[in-house]
Amino acid sequence: MPTFSIAVLPGDGIGADVTAEAVRVLNAVQPKLKDVSFSLTEYPCGAGEFLRGGDPLPAATMDACRKADAILLGAMGLPDVRWPDGREMAPQLDLREVMELYAGVRPIRLYHPAHSPLKNGGGIDLVIYRENTEGLFYSRKNPRQAGAAEVLDQLRVSRRGSERLFRAAFRHAERRRGLVTLIDKANVLPSMAYFREIFDEIAAEFPHVKAEYCYVDACALYLVQRPQRFDVLVTENMFGDILSDLAAGIVGGMGMAPSGDIGDRNAVFQPSHGSAPDIAGKGIANPLATILSLAMMIEWLPSEETKRGAKMINQAVERCCEDPSRATPDLGGKWTTAQIGEWVAANL
Ligand code: ATP
Repeated sequence: MPTFSIAVLPGDGIGADVTAEAVRVLNAVQPKLKDVSFSLTEYPCGAGEFLRGGDPLPAATMDACRKADAILLGAMGLPDVRWPDGREMAPQLDLREVMELYAGVRPIRLYHPAHSPLKNGGGIDLVIYRENTEGLFYSRKNPRQAGAAEVLDQLRVSRRGSERLFRAAFRHAERRRGLVTLIDKANVLPSMAYFREIFDEIAAEFPHVKAEYCYVDACALYLVQRPQRFDVLVTENMFGDILSDLAAGIVGGMGMAPSGDIGDRNAVFQPSHGSAPDIAGKGIANPLATILSLAMMIEWLPSEETKRGAKMINQAVERCCEDPSRATPDLGGKWTTAQIGEWVAANL
């Protein structure tokens, strides 16, 4: 009987609250699967861990993540806990870079029309592929000279980094509606013109998938005006960071936006949101993004049974959202984090 080892990194703020509900759902789904089990181990990580032990991503946690079959993460970072140069602790970014989790996969789906602030939100179902290891975030650890009158950040686009991202996006589109939209700024930045050239080369490997381009500014407009036109969007790291929050906004906010950071060997699954200190400890965080990330995780594992489990979780979330009053306050409901987790676990 295969046992999948899962490293669980609850992290900071609401990370612990939402991870607990995903673990509850995983424990409920496990007995329904034939010949599959999960072995869960929690590891310390995050700004809180920095305050306790001096390192936001201890070597033992990093090592366990490399060895695990998959990683389930809550949220990392606290606004008041920063490096001396002013940057927040972001061990989730270190994990992406160190383990080369190049594809930031962010499904955006509207589960109930009442969740969307748009008049015509019905039928939103798209996936953003965010490049996760370079782009404008490539400069994030550049040293800053004290007193300097200017600071330069570089945007890195490499052939290797782009090819693997584009192939993953096209493969995903093959399993969906067969459209990939490259989001770039090729009319202004040379790095983006290069990004587009590589996109064209990879698009030629997938002649049955339609490929198109959209400038990032126009994409922001279309995501609000007619998001239904998109299927798979693929983009640079920083553009993906911004657009995935915008896209989450049209389907109910960060509590409805799951994600997977996927490489060739390892993968981290986590809600797209941060540690949300404004609602931490109140028991009102929406756990659905994390529960949907859990479904992505077990779908990614190499087992037909876990794929069946993922379907069960996704369908339970769909049923949960059929009644819009069965929701946490971010969606206008009165339910607590735990009540939503319990409902999903009981209705698999
Ligand atoms: P980061 O930069 O680390 O991604 P952020 O600055 O984008 O974090 P978040 O922590 O994602 O901030 O929170 C943004 C807003 O969304 C906050 O007002 C927060 O309350 C809300 N929010 C985030 N996650 C949830 C959730 N699971 N349930 C309800 N509200 C949430």
